[in-house]
Amino acid sequence: MSIATNLNTIQSSLAENVTLVAVSKTKPIPDLMEAYDAGQRIFGENKIQEMAEKWELMPKDIQWHMIGHVQTNKVKFMAQFVSLIHGVDSLKLLQEINKQALKNSRVIDCLLQIHIAEEETKFGLDENELDVLLASNEFQQMKNIRIVGLMGMATFTDNKEQIKKEFSHLKSIFDKLRDRETLQGFSILSMGMSGDYQIAIECGSTMVRIGSSIFGTR
Ligand SMILES: *Cc1c(COP(=O)(O)O)cnc(C)c1O
Repeated sequence: MSIATNLNTIQSSLAENVTLVAVSKTKPIPDLMEAYDAGQRIFGENKIQEMAEKWELMPKDIQWHMIGHVQTNKVKFMAQFVSLIHGVDSLKLLQEINKQALKNSRVIDCLLQIHIAEEETKFGLDENELDVLLASNEFQQMKNIRIVGLMGMATFTDNKEQIKKEFSHLKSIFDKLRDRETLQGFSILSMGMSGDYQIAIECGSTMVRIGSSIFGTR
């Protein structure tokens, strides 16, 4: 099936309050343009250099989301244009994003990545680290970043109950933070990929990151 067909099928199956990020990592620009021509405007990449190259060559009304792990020393290459950074998992990284955003006279929207999977290898903060970060003076003083939500990845498994448990856990953390109302614009819960986005939406996801079901296997 064509990229446009895949995209339309997925897009029309999503409720209005769920935003689709088309994950285009490793895919060539003609593939992205096919999605663009079918109406897609939000693209997700996991390497800063690759995202910057695509940003330069593609239409300027695209919103670029960084969904991968971010190295502090590379933030400067995306600070001018990135629209949302999903994988923020340390105060040090947040400080660098704040610094580079200030240099570009911007406020950069970020999601804090929470560790919900069983696997050791997935990045993210635990609940205690999240509380410590949000309560810190350093965090409160940053004026050029905005925490607009949370992001998480479930364990890579066929066990639907486990995936559900992990996504529900993230949703409960999200609800607790939103109810505190100290974070302005806190509204995005980024969870769900090709293999598990339906479960993620059942559990309250407002943003799904889908790659292979749109663009094919990588
Ligand atoms: C690659 C990637 C996705 C998309 O994965 P698919 O299984 O291709 O849909 C989503 N989120 C993150 C963080 C990724 O790195």
